[in-house]
Amino acid sequence: MPSPAVPAFLTELLAARSPSGYEMEAQAVFDRHVQPAADAYAKDALGNRLATLNPAGDPVLMLAGHIDELGLIITFVSKDGFLYFDTNGGHDLSVISGRRVIIQTAHGPVKGVTGKRAVHLMDDEDRKKVPKKHEIWIDIGAASKQDALERVAIGDVATYDCGFEILHGTIGVARAFDDKAGAYIIGETLIRLAKAKKKLAARVVAVATTQEEIGVRGATTAVYAVNPHIAIAVDVGHATDHPDCDHRKFGETKLGAGPILCRGANINPKVFERLLKAAKKLGIPYQVEADPRPTGTDARAIQMGRGGVATGLVSLPLRYMHTPSELVDLNDVEHCVKLLVEFAGSLEKGDYAHW
Ligand SMILES: [Zn+2]
Repeated sequence: MPSPAVPAFLTELLAARSPSGYEMEAQAVFDRHVQPAADAYAKDALGNRLATLNPAGDPVLMLAGHIDELGLIITFVSKDGFLYFDTNGGHDLSVISGRRVIIQTAHGPVKGVTGKRAVHLMDDEDRKKVPKKHEIWIDIGAASKQDALERVAIGDVATYDCGFEILHGTIGVARAFDDKAGAYIIGETLIRLAKAKKKLAARVVAVATTQEEIGVRGATTAVYAVNPHIAIAVDVGHATDHPDCDHRKFGETKLGAGPILCRGANINPKVFERLLKAAKKLGIPYQVEADPRPTGTDARAIQMGRGGVATGLVSLPLRYMHTPSELVDLNDVEHCVKLLVEFAGSLEKGDYAHW
């Protein structure tokens, strides 16, 4: 099967390094691709990007996808020049060591590796344990603390040095589909709505949110600023179609089976119904998941914004979340864009999804 043409906007977002609080590279990509299509474009104090289409429209629809990713923040340099870190976002500590990393510094990127004691040097008890953060370090080949601090600074951040590739067919692997794919989907939706020049009732505000991984912080302030009637958060969701995943505990969702539409208390029932209707009208595949609590996504903050927002959640199925090798099916990405374009176009004036 030939590899699909992958949009430059998506591959550039996937290449951008953007740990929470340090989203500059991803912001620049979003600016370059989305700003030209928007009627108005704003940056805010948290680094969010807010692209507006049809500013006089009603209702106000906010689309949110986060541009931050996991990272490691340097907190201490030992006298021998090894860098210790804290984690930005929810890492699986068992996969941090043995990686190549890139540290973003004032002098440009610095290469390093994450080291820990070799397995041969561990006793039987140590081998069974997941290392603690302080038992892993970043080695940049420095000879001393001074040598290291000439190249990196406390507060610099690192990401895994691995990029996007097609694994097979339409299956792609990347370090941070979570949630560059979501930021792509909401930005691309706005671009296509602008190109279509179809009369939209709604004002559409596509927001590339920051700091989602450390507590949905960008979305919290953006929802106040945008003051939407209706909002859709787009994030990645667990595909549970791999070994060692009990469907009785985690539900049944698959890669390549279309956008996952969430139902539950975080989700406005009318917004869910309209997403479902849009998927059926387009004839695209979709899946439904249930979550009784506030979801672990921007939807959590958005629903509780101001006087309350009719919120939906569209998730892109993904395997191996929060590891350096996240897998998605690119057909699912395209189906998410089509779904949001259809949903935005279906909103009518005065339609606030109150119930
Ligand atoms: Zn995410």
